[in-house]
Amino acid sequence: MTESSSSSLGLIERLERGPVICAEGYLFELERRGYLQAGAFVPEAVLDHPEVVANLHREFVRAGSDVIEAFTYYGHREKLRIVGKEDLLEPLQRGALEIAESVADEFGEDRPLLAGNICNTNVWDPAKSEMDDQVTAMFDEQVGWAVEAGVDFIIGETFAFHGEANLALASIKRSGLPAVVTFAHHQEDGLRDGVDITEAAKMLEQQGADVVGVNCTRGPETMFPDVRRIREAVSCHVAALPVPYRTHDAQPTFQSLQDPNCNCLPGDRPFPTGLDPFTCNRYEMAAFARAAYDIEVRYLGVCCGAGPHHIRSIAEELGKHPPASKYSPDMSKHYALGSEGTLKKHNQEYVKKL
Ligand SMILES: [Zn+2]
Repeated sequence: MTESSSSSLGLIERLERGPVICAEGYLFELERRGYLQAGAFVPEAVLDHPEVVANLHREFVRAGSDVIEAFTYYGHREKLRIVGKEDLLEPLQRGALEIAESVADEFGEDRPLLAGNICNTNVWDPAKSEMDDQVTAMFDEQVGWAVEAGVDFIIGETFAFHGEANLALASIKRSGLPAVVTFAHHQEDGLRDGVDITEAAKMLEQQGADVVGVNCTRGPETMFPDVRRIREAVSCHVAALPVPYRTHDAQPTFQSLQDPNCNCLPGDRPFPTGLDPFTCNRYEMAAFARAAYDIEVRYLGVCCGAGPHHIRSIAEELGKHPPASKYSPDMSKHYALGSEGTLKKHNQEYVKKL
């Protein structure tokens, strides 16, 4: 632990006091900005454009994220093998942790928490128990680098299998750091290994997870029922980090959304690069956070598709005043829609024709 992080409150103490906001979605945002390739979704920007990764961390913290999650998502052995860069595994992992720590340090006594990250490996298979050791080794090496970097806690996320989440949790627990473990719930009722999501959450709690919940895949509307069920099933803290897309009962995940208004998509679905028209506005994300917080879900954030504007709205809804609130909307000053005394009447009268 660095001196500055040990002088601030840890994750659990912060959760006992109120909400903790964690901005995620780095893969999507850096892809949108042109620093990362959709498809393999490997966080190569860490090596190719570290300044861009640093700035996105900075933007999210300014907007109210209480956590900087090191950008190691999908930076694991299997993903790097797909792009022929397995030799870059350690530099990428260590580089991401260094970037995250250096940005955290910039915030002085308002230093955000620093989180390490592990995620679904895409090689774990419930039918092949021999994969357990290989996957555990992948988790252990990443957790080890995160511990060496002095992270405050570790996030294990987007697990579609309970079995894989359990291996991730065991790896985090061996490090002695707090563990946040979240599931990615696809279209089926249960997780991919058939386990009910609330049962899976309960088992993780029993295995020592400090925070359990859901992230990614589902937008606010279709994630909320899971959040409520998990909240009722466990007594530990609960996490909810939806994607900011308007998923609904018939298409409950962002991968399953269909766009009848567009005939120029390159594939058979808007996911992952044509989701723009489904994006939730900042008020919808704030409303989700409020509803979740009101049922005692305190670890909140946004996953793939998140922008700083979403994070700021959530932060403000939950009573925070992050640096970016300096520029929060004030439409009273708008030349036509506004009410400020010196605005010109002929513009205000024209408002219905805008
Ligand atoms: Zn996501």
